[in-house]
Amino acid sequence: GMEFDKWGLPVLNERTLQSTIPNVLFGGDAAFGPKNIIWAVAHGHEAAVSIDKMLSGEDPNDRPLPAVQMISQKMGIHEWSYDNAIDPDQRNKVPWAPAEQTLTNIGVEVELGFDPQLALREASRCLNCDAQTVFTGNKCIECDACVDICPMDCITFTDDGEEAELRQRLTAPALNLTQDLYVGGDLKTGRVMVKDEDVCLHCGLCAERCPTGAWDMQKFFLEMTHAGPQCRSPGRKAA
Ligand code: SF4
Ligand code: SF4
Repeated sequence: GMEFDKWGLPVLNERTLQSTIPNVLFGGDAAFGPKNIIWAVAHGHEAAVSIDKMLSGEDPNDRPLPAVQMISQKMGIHEWSYDNAIDPDQRNKVPWAPAEQTLTNIGVEVELGFDPQLALREASRCLNCDAQTVFTGNKCIECDACVDICPMDCITFTDDGEEAELRQRLTAPALNLTQDLYVGGDLKTGRVMVKDEDVCLHCGLCAERCPTGAWDMQKFFLEMTHAGPQCRSPGRKAA
């Protein structure tokens, strides 16, 4: 029979969403307990991939990779992407309907959502984390223009070294060890470019100032692979 855990939920393979009876799959709240609708939709897609693979005689544990694309996003026509100022505002709270209504009538939606004005304000707190700085060492002429313009002093051209020591001798020491350093080589002088990802604002000024295109701002797109021919072998394999 089917196995259940101490919470009464089915024991599942977290990758394939198969239960201990492999052709019975679960998703949504019935899979791992209460989550939100986004998880439920994702479970549905992942379970569909498992079913597609089983029907195609493939191992459902062999998951298809997502497609990843980086697309150049320098200013000019993409100027609007960099519109957001750095804003110390706290996150805006989503307004709730009065408790006397929501507690007495289960049909009343608790979260009212933002009005257009508040939604715009909330969206403008976005720090463009999807626009990444991408460095191409063999295009760099080591003019230091990006170092000069960076408002956060997070770019340093220096000799290579062990990470712990390198972190200390950057223009602004990189003290947050949970954030990787971005190190780019292939420079004509044999030095390396080191960027502290922890403090980068994704403002795009380095890419705008760079005379050779060694810095580029590239927007990150992730497209999950859904059920269908593309999830089967030899399907989409390159990330
Ligand atoms: S995007 Fe802005 S903050 Fe980040 S490295 Fe470039 S200039 Fe500095
Ligand atoms: S501005 Fe461009 S060419 Fe100049 S040092 Fe920076 S990356 Fe290299």
